[in-house]
Parts: sequence; C-alpha cells; structure tokens
Amino acid sequence: MAYVIKDECIACGACIEECPVEAIVAGDDQYSIDADKCIDCGACAGACPVDAPVEG
Ligand code: SF4
Ligand code: SF4
Repeated sequence: MAYVIKDECIACGACIEECPVEAIVAGDDQYSIDADKCIDCGACAGACPVDAPVEG
C-alpha cells in the first residue's frame, strides 16, 4: 500500500526532498502522493512536522 497525505498537511514542503522515488506532488494547500510511484518507505512521515503522511 502507498502512503497517503492527510488533511493535516500544511504544505511546508519538508517531505518532498526525502522521497527516494519522487512520488510526492506539491500543491498550494496540501501535498499529495502518487500511489503508483510510492514504495511505502515511510521517509516522508519521518520528515513531516504534523504527521500528515500515513500508510494508506
Ligand atoms: Fe516517497 Fe517513501 Fe513517502 Fe512513499 S512512503 S511517498 S516512497 S517517502
Ligand atoms: Fe505536508 Fe507534512 Fe509534507 Fe509538510 S512534510 S508538505 S506538512 S505532508
């Protein structure tokens, strides 16, 4: 299962450079994860200040 980013996301951008497969997509209000690219590594969750990325 891919990770998903919950509504708590504040679009800070901390997660995007941590993803080894460039699965995170930037947005104005929230970021999202491309489920087809995500390898379920959890790096984004470790970088997030509000624990928005969770296992889907
Ligand atoms: Fe990228 Fe890993 Fe987060 Fe998936 S779980 S979006 S591969 S950092
Ligand atoms: Fe959103 Fe967390 Fe990523 Fe920041 S680190 S953009 S709050 S998911």
